[in-house]
This record gives sequence, C-alpha cells and structure tokens, in this order.
Amino acid sequence: MSPAGWGTILRLGVVLFVALLIGLIIGRTAAVLAMVLAIYLTAQIVNLLRVEYWLSHRRIEAAPDMRGSWAEVVAIVGRIDRRKQYHKAHVTDLLREFRRLTHAMPEGAVLLGPEHEILWFNPRVSAWLGLRRKRDLGFRIENLVRHPDFVDYLRTGLPAEGVVIQGAGGDRSRWFSFHLVRTDEKLRQLLIVRDVTQEHRLASMRKDFVANASHELCSPLTVISGYLDTLADDEALDPAWRPPVMEMRRQAVRMQTIIDDLLELSKLESNDNRPEDRPVDIAAMLTLMRRDLMAQEHHPRELTLRLDSDAWLEGAESDIHSVVANLLSNAVKYTPPEGTVELRWWTDELGGHLAVRDTGAGIAAEHLPRLTERFYRVDSGRSRELGGSGLGLAIVKHALQRHGAVLEVQSEEGRGSTFTCHFPVQRVLPAPVQTRGAKQDS
Ligand code: ADP
Repeated sequence: MSPAGWGTILRLGVVLFVALLIGLIIGRTAAVLAMVLAIYLTAQIVNLLRVEYWLSHRRIEAAPDMRGSWAEVVAIVGRIDRRKQYHKAHVTDLLREFRRLTHAMPEGAVLLGPEHEILWFNPRVSAWLGLRRKRDLGFRIENLVRHPDFVDYLRTGLPAEGVVIQGAGGDRSRWFSFHLVRTDEKLRQLLIVRDVTQEHRLASMRKDFVANASHELCSPLTVISGYLDTLADDEALDPAWRPPVMEMRRQAVRMQTIIDDLLELSKLESNDNRPEDRPVDIAAMLTLMRRDLMAQEHHPRELTLRLDSDAWLEGAESDIHSVVANLLSNAVKYTPPEGTVELRWWTDELGGHLAVRDTGAGIAAEHLPRLTERFYRVDSGRSRELGGSGLGLAIVKHALQRHGAVLEVQSEEGRGSTFTCHFPVQRVLPAPVQTRGAKQDS
C-alpha cells in the first residue's frame, strides 16, 4: 500500500478514536460514531463524484485538487492517461509514416487474408492492376488477376522466386512480377508487385540479338567450312599448309557447335514454337541413346543402363533428348576410357528421376552453384580441348525448367559426378499396356 493509503487509514482511525472518546464522555457512543461515519461517507461520496466528473471531462477539465488516497488515484489515472496519449500519438505517427512510405514505394503491395481476400493495397497497385478501394476490398485476388500461372502460384507458393505475368492489369504490353511474403501463421500474406516491363524488354532484346547474330553467322561459317573441307581433301595441297588447314577446320567445327548450342538455347528461352508435350517412353529413348553412343568411335568402356521403371514422362521429346544427350556427352568427355558411366531412370512418390553417373574427373564443390551459367567452365582449357561449347548445362537447365523439373548435381573431385533430373510427379505416366515390362540392358 502507498504512504497515502496508510495516511488515510491512520486519519480514519484517529477520527473514530476521538469520536469514541467523545461518545463515552457524553454517554452517546453509538450516535456519535454513526454521525462521524455519516460525515466521512458523505465526504467520500463527494470525492467520488468529483473524480467521476473529472474522468468524463478530463480533456477539458484540470485534475481536481484532492488529498490522501484520492490524490493518489487522480495521479495514477493521469499517468495512465498520459502514457496512452503518448502511445496513441506514436502509433498515429507510425501509421502516417507507413502510408507515406507505401505511397512512395516503387513496388506495389497488397495485403491478403487467409483466403487471398484483399485487405489493403497501396496506390501503385491500383494504378497498375486497376484495383479500386471501394469496389475490390474483400474480393479474392484470383478473381481479379485470373492468369493460370498466378492462380497456381497463389495455391502452391511455387516457384519460390515468384511469377512474371504479362498484361496482369489488362495492358498486354506490360509485365508484372508477383512475389508472396508469407508469415508463419499464414493469416496474412503480403503480395509484392513489380513492374518488370523494362527488364523483360531488355532480356528479350538480348535473346533476340543472340539468336539473330547466331543465325547470321551460320551461313558464312558454312561457306568457310565447305572450302576448308575441300582444301583438306585436296591431294595437291602443299604439305606445309596441311596442319594449319586441319586446325582451321577443327576451329570451324567448334564455332559451329557454339552457334548450334546458342540457337538451341534461344529456342528454349523463347515461348514461341514450343514443342508440344506428349507421352515419352523414357526407357526406349535411353536404350536407343545408349546404343548410338556405344556405336561411336569415342565411347566409355562401360555404359550401364538401369531402368527401374517403365513409366513414361509427359514432356517435349526433343527437350528431354537434349538433356540426356548433353549430360551423357559431358560424362563421356570428362571420364577417362577406363572409367564407367551409368544411366538410370526410376520413379517414386516424388516424381520421375533421370540420373547420369560417372566415375570421371568430378567437380570441386565451389564450382557447383555456377555450373549451369552460360560459358562457365571448371577448366576452360580442358573443355575447349574436348570440344565443349560451355553451354551444355545451360541448355539442360532451361529444358528442365520448361518441364517444372530441377537438376541436382553431386560431385567429388577426382571420384566422379552424378547429375540427376527430378521431374514432378504430375508428369509421370503409367506405361501403355503393350510396352509393360521394363527392359534391362547393360
Ligand atoms: P562444356 O561444353 O564445357 O562441357 P557444360 O555447360 O556442359 O560445358 O559444362 C560446364 C562445365 O561443367 C564443364 O566445362 C566442366 O568443367 C563441368 N562438367 C560438366 N559435366 C561434367 C562431368 N560429368 N564431370 C566433370 N565435370 C563436368
């Protein structure tokens, strides 16, 4: 209890004691005590009414001047009130600052509830996506942005880096990226929207430039290669010229490989003329590819084929063929003739898996994250010497991306590597009845 509380009790005790004494002296103890208590109670009721009046008019009325516990009560209420005012002002300032920031933000932001209903959005989003506060608050965002990729992204949260949608606000010439920031409880989610039209234009200009330049280089190179072939086959060629001509021919072949790979990469990056998805018999494709490779002049001593599933895969056959061809060609290139290569196809509850394992040179861990970059080579000299364009794994990555698949690389320097393609379960199809019964070949 506060000192004021003790003081109040003491004062009441003294008053009652004096009243008792007076009562005893005049022989009317009960009457005197009752009178003193009635006066005391009246004083308390008056104080209570003053405090009540002050509490309900405290914005305009000064605090009443009181004594004892009442003064303490008034002081405590005053303190609580001041603290509340301070926090209120602080929160109001924060809210004002937040609104200023969200207005100035170069990104759009939409706050979504658990059912993706729109709870709030900043002005940038209304300008880009045409959302209106009065009309659209409370509506589910997939009813306003209906693109199937966006709806899938909202449902699954994949891909983790978000999605880019053309013409999300109705204007087909603009591109927007959407990225969901989820909280742990998933009660509220923040959707960040960015206008990526400029980046998209630059990227497609770059892609077009590479595709056009590669295309333009094709014809002169064909002519040069033709003349070099004629020269190399010419019996009358001065022997002193033979080595440089052969070297020129080798370099022309390398240039052709690079141009072919660049063209293939451009084709994979553009969505035009995308090959149609069809059921692909992976076991038959791998069997054929193994046979072709073993018929070539440079082939590994041992190329094992492990078919643990006869399931088919829904996808573009040319893309899947290109993936396996690039991985196999690398395995053969970077594995000495005495090493072994294994091709494996299996399925499980996670999807379809295609792995190429070799016992070759292996790759040091620090190179693994950059392997699929264009022209990234662990050992440039070696890659060039072996006729590599530096684009093989970039092609693999893009071809897999188009199938929603990912590439996993496990490797140990000096011991070998395993490149595994993981395809989503939705793409795995049961083999048609007549082809059932996996073939084992090794
Ligand atoms: P390249 O045409 O140079 O082979 P890739 O994009 O196919 O280009 O591969 C990139 C680099 O990754 C290669 O230069 C090589 O250093 C490394 N690499 C790829 N596959 C293997 C493998 N099976 N074993 C060892 N290194 C590999």
